[in-house]
Amino acid sequence: MATALKFVAPENKAKTFIEGKHQILINGKWVEAASGKTFPSYDPATGEVIAQVAEGDREDINRAVSAARTAFESGPWSRLTVSERGRLIWKLADLLEANTEEFAEIESLDNGKPLKVARAADIPLAVDMFRYMAGWATKIEGSTIPISVPYTPGTRYLAYTLREPVGVVGQIIPWNFPLLMAAWKLGPALATGCTVVLKPAEQTPLTALRLGELMQEAGFPDGVVNIVPGYGETAGAALAAHPDVDKVAFTGSTEVGRLIVQAAAGNLKKVSLELGGKSPNVVFSDVDLDSAVAGSASAIFFNHGQCCCAGSRLFVEDKVFDKVVEGVAKKAEKIKLGSGMDSNTDMGPLVSEEQLNRVCGYLDSGLSEGAKAVTGGSRHGDKGYFVKPTVLVNTNDDMKVVREEIFGPVVTAIPFRTSEELVAKANNTEYGLAAGIWTHDIQKAHRLASQLRAGTVWINCYNIFDAALPFGGYKQSGWGREMGREVLEHYTEVKSVCTPA
Ligand code: ADP
Repeated sequence: MATALKFVAPENKAKTFIEGKHQILINGKWVEAASGKTFPSYDPATGEVIAQVAEGDREDINRAVSAARTAFESGPWSRLTVSERGRLIWKLADLLEANTEEFAEIESLDNGKPLKVARAADIPLAVDMFRYMAGWATKIEGSTIPISVPYTPGTRYLAYTLREPVGVVGQIIPWNFPLLMAAWKLGPALATGCTVVLKPAEQTPLTALRLGELMQEAGFPDGVVNIVPGYGETAGAALAAHPDVDKVAFTGSTEVGRLIVQAAAGNLKKVSLELGGKSPNVVFSDVDLDSAVAGSASAIFFNHGQCCCAGSRLFVEDKVFDKVVEGVAKKAEKIKLGSGMDSNTDMGPLVSEEQLNRVCGYLDSGLSEGAKAVTGGSRHGDKGYFVKPTVLVNTNDDMKVVREEIFGPVVTAIPFRTSEELVAKANNTEYGLAAGIWTHDIQKAHRLASQLRAGTVWINCYNIFDAALPFGGYKQSGWGREMGREVLEHYTEVKSVCTPA
């Protein structure tokens, strides 16, 4: 239980929060689930329960949607000026930043990721997302449009567009970057003036709930953001299908993305989806191999491979294939696995037993079909949900490990000879989220960037994110974009207004 957990300091805010009550936030009040049920959240480094969390279901979703509807239609939120809205979001960012250490510890314990990574990446990126979106609150504009109207000759018109909030938004987020995914979703919803029902992932509900407390401290009116922890098949499904939700924004697996689309069909709510990937990361022989090897290792092993954009198919020009594979394998072997709370840890456990079994299932399938593990290839230890960073070779395009998203620290390395062959192989996937290119030939890099069917292409880098840079998928990797000005389009309706003038 929580008392056995290791914290950076014996008495600190993260400990107090984790040991406290974890309820549902509806209309500014923390309440138990209507059913009275709770569910456990685990420390994936040990498999021990760290907290019991109120288990939201349909009834709680109904109440939360009703609160969000009232807040949208008639609450103080609907009357705030855009500047006041922006200032609230900015204040939330300040509060989050001031509590970085606490959030990083909660995230590390709930998700398993190294504390140093949560401290350096997850929390600052979430802060930055809120600041970036705070700035947009005052800059969401329509336009004036000259029109002619051929069937009313002689009449002049004044015509303009307004960009209005889409309404009540249901947001369903995953467990790989729990707080950051909440920020990606909440930031644009708040900047545009929507109200929200947020359902965090059942594996990692804690930082979203703590964020709810900070939103109250910042002064967001009741009902603007309601947070309902619970399972996907129950609370998530009820939210996606709810007839009074105007839009659902989802990040998670492509399989569940399809269920969201079906659930949304009832009232034809707007849908945005950020789904899976099987991203190609391409190394040419002309590049500085040390940096390409380091970048390619981090492209797959960052966050234990639990990134939708992980560079999980490593394509290497054949003349440097052995060298690059050996280099990436060496990097893999140097990665220290351990509890996220240990300052020596480079890679923590996978998030859950289910993920452990899933990733090990993929390893078994690849190895039994003839793939070879240059390094790794199995579970690490027998306590907690650790998997050894793995490099697979001798694969072919029909293998599941090449075609399907593994969502773990497993890369398949594949040689290629020509750019044409490479483009065909790299695009031979139902996904299209991201791609990496390592070359010093600038023309080749840009040509390839345009040929790869992916929403993000990193050249001589990987996993570079910014609140201003849109992120999202081609093909079955999603609908719409997160971040940047593009995301605002998914949270607004355009109204055309026109009058004889
Ligand atoms: P993973 O398989 O990696 O856990 P999921 O796509 O299952 O990812 O989960 C992402 C989010 O979607 C989580 O918040 C989860 O609870 C939710 N979810 C899962 N199934 C459904 C569903 N049928 N309807 C709505 N949300 C769901």
